[in-house]
Amino acid sequence: MSVFFVTGASRGFGAEIVREALRRGHQVVATARRPDEIPFGDAVKVALDVTDEAQARTAVEQAVAAYGRIDVLVNNAGRGLLGTVEEASDEAARAVFDTNVFGVLNVQRAVLPVLRAQRSGHVIQLSSVGGFTGTPGWGVYAATKFAVEGFSEALAGELAPLGVKVTIVEPGFFRTDFLDGSSLHTADATIEDYAAAIDRLRELMAERNHAQPGDPVKAAAAIVDLTELPEPPLRIQLGTDAVERISAKLDFMRAEMAKWRTVSTSTDHDDA
Ligand code: NDP
Repeated sequence: MSVFFVTGASRGFGAEIVREALRRGHQVVATARRPDEIPFGDAVKVALDVTDEAQARTAVEQAVAAYGRIDVLVNNAGRGLLGTVEEASDEAARAVFDTNVFGVLNVQRAVLPVLRAQRSGHVIQLSSVGGFTGTPGWGVYAATKFAVEGFSEALAGELAPLGVKVTIVEPGFFRTDFLDGSSLHTADATIEDYAAAIDRLRELMAERNHAQPGDPVKAAAAIVDLTELPEPPLRIQLGTDAVERISAKLDFMRAEMAKWRTVSTSTDHDDA
């Protein structure tokens, strides 16, 4: 049985992962900004706003005091930002980076010493289909998840010799509160040139809120399955929409690279 440490366990994916891990008999440290809202009696509930590095260190101390180890870190806490790249204010862009990027780094810095000392463990990064593909209206959010994917790929290489695994999870649209006003921040439309497109996108996201195709209960089961494998993948897509979008991007990139290969390989020094 493993000890899980889950961020953002109050609702959505985080809560479902906690529920599934407990159901299978794992031990769970469930963390949230308001731990009294964590709906599980069997978990150790700990306060953690991931943007607070000192609180992350304290939360890890509490986890180790409770169970003596941490086997699985689930970096789940995160939020969206809907709006064009140009319309996202400096404040809005920094706020979403604070949670989705610097929050993950804060929690990792607190947990990794435990995993390295054990010479075992598994870090699960909740990225997104937006961590591999940038689409209009989701640019700054995508940038946060691209950042997570970049450092996670490097981290996987750094931790592999120390017996610690990393898996990047790329969900498509799942039926959580992600598109809800309680979670999704919307950049104010300020530029007329984008107004029609962004208004349509907002309407579409409002229609899709709580009607997304992905089932977070099934996603949680798939994620907990990954933690029980000897050789989990570095990346996994969840949801048909994620598989299709990422596969289309890979095809496009391969075709574009082939088309421009002569230019790409023409810039080396002649003696290289
Ligand atoms: P929800 O909005 O349902 O849940 C988000 C969770 O993150 C909540 O528990 C929230 O806590 C927590 N959270 C937000 N900010 C912080 C913070 N600063 N510190 C601690 N916890 C915080 O969305 P999801 O469950 O869908 O999102 C979970 C992850 O999945 C995110 O990283 C998201 O980017 C990713 N994802 C979701 C997709 C989807 O379609 N659902 C698609 C792709 C990726 P609180 O209750 O306090 O607000």
